[in-house]
Amino acid sequence: QKHFSIAIIPGDGIGPEVVNEGLKVLKVLEEVHSDVRFVYDFYDWNCEYYLKHGRMMPTNGLNLLEDYDTILFGAVGAPTVPDHVSVWELILPIRRHFQQYVNLRPVKLLKGLESPLRYKSHDDLDFVVIRENTEGEYSNIGGRLHEGTPYETAIQNNVFTRYGSERILKYAYSVAESRPKKRLTVATKSNAINHTMPFWDEIVKEIGNEHPQIDVQLYHIDALAAYFISKPESFDVVAGSNLFGDILTDLGAAIVGGLGLAPSGNINPERKYPSMFEPIHGSAPDIAGKGIANPIAQIWSISLMMDHLRLPELGKLVLSAIEEVLFDGTVRTPDLGGTANTMEMGDAIVSKIREMSLKTNLGEK
Ligand code: NAD
Ligand code: MN
Repeated sequence: QKHFSIAIIPGDGIGPEVVNEGLKVLKVLEEVHSDVRFVYDFYDWNCEYYLKHGRMMPTNGLNLLEDYDTILFGAVGAPTVPDHVSVWELILPIRRHFQQYVNLRPVKLLKGLESPLRYKSHDDLDFVVIRENTEGEYSNIGGRLHEGTPYETAIQNNVFTRYGSERILKYAYSVAESRPKKRLTVATKSNAINHTMPFWDEIVKEIGNEHPQIDVQLYHIDALAAYFISKPESFDVVAGSNLFGDILTDLGAAIVGGLGLAPSGNINPERKYPSMFEPIHGSAPDIAGKGIANPIAQIWSISLMMDHLRLPELGKLVLSAIEEVLFDGTVRTPDLGGTANTMEMGDAIVSKIREMSLKTNLGEK
C-alpha cells in the first residue's frame, strides 16, 4: 500500500463546505483503490484564527506543511479581515515558500454543460492556462509617498526575474509539447509596460528557439481577453504573468460554466516541496452558510492532485465522474441552474465514482 500525506486547510466561508465534499471523494478513492491510503491533518488557519492570534498562521506554519506530500486548500477571506491580509499572510507565502511557481488552470467545457458563448461546444473549449505564481505584479515591493498631502502616491513594483520568467515559460513550452496541437499563446503588454514586458517577450522568444515545433503567439492581454470570447477554439496552452493569468482564468471559468467549477493546482514541478490544490474561487461570503456552494471546483482540484501524485487513473476517474453527473443533469447546484445543495452534489459524484470503478477494478491486480 502507498500512503500519501495531505495537509488540509479549509479556510473561510464556503471553503470548509466544499472541502467536506472533497474529503468524501478522498474516502471513496481509498475504497475503490485498495493500494492507496490518504492520511491527513487539518489546519484551522483562517480569518477567525487571525482575529484570535493576530496572524493567519503560526510563525512555524510553513515548516509544519513542508513534509506533507501535498496540500488541499479551500478558500480564505472574510469581511472582518482585509483581503490583502488574508491573501498575503496565508496563500501567497505558501505559494512562494514552496516554489509553487506554476499555477495550472484547465479551461474545459464538460459534457452536459453549455457555454454562455453561443455556438461554442466542448471541442471549442478545451485548453489550459499556466499562470506564473511567485513574482510579477504580485510583488510586495512598494509603498506610499507624501502621505497626508494632495500628492499622496502609492507605488507597487512589478518584479520579473530572468530565473522566474524562464522557469515558467519553459514549463509552458513543455506542456505545449505534450499536447497534440503544439500551440502556445503568451499574454503580454509590451506596447505600454515598457520595462518588464519587453523582457518577458524576449524570454518567450529565446526559449521558443529551443522548441521550433511549437507554434507560439504573443498577444497583448486586452486583445487576448477578447479572443477568449471570440475565438476560444484557437487556444491550446495559454501562459501569462501572475496578474494576467489570474484575470484570464476567472474569465476562462466564466466561459465554461462559472467559478463553481474551476480548479487549480499550485505546482512545484521539481517536487522538492509539496504542491497545493484549490478551487480558483474565493470564500463567497454572499452564499456562505447556505449550503448551496458548488463543490465541483474543489473536487476537480482533487483530480489534479491525483495526477500530480502520479495516480492518473484516479485523476481521470474523478473527472469522468464529475462529467457523468453533469451529463445526467439531475443533480445540479443553483449556480448551474439546479436546486441541489452542496452535499447532494458531492454525494452524486461519490456514488458515480463508486459505480464507475466497478467497471475498472483499480488496485486489485
Ligand atoms: P469569490 O470567488 O468568493 O465569489 C465570486 C462570485 O462567485 C460570488 O458571487 C460567489 O457566490 C460565486 N461563487 C464562488 N464560488 C462558488 C461556488 N463554489 N459555487 C457557487 N458560486 C460560487 O470572489 P470574491 O467575492 O471576489 O471574494 C470573496 C472573498 O474570497 C474575498 O475575501 C477574497 O479576497 C477571497 N478570495 C480568496 C481566494 C483564495 O482563497 N484563493 C481567491 C479569490 C478570492
Ligand atoms: Mn483569482
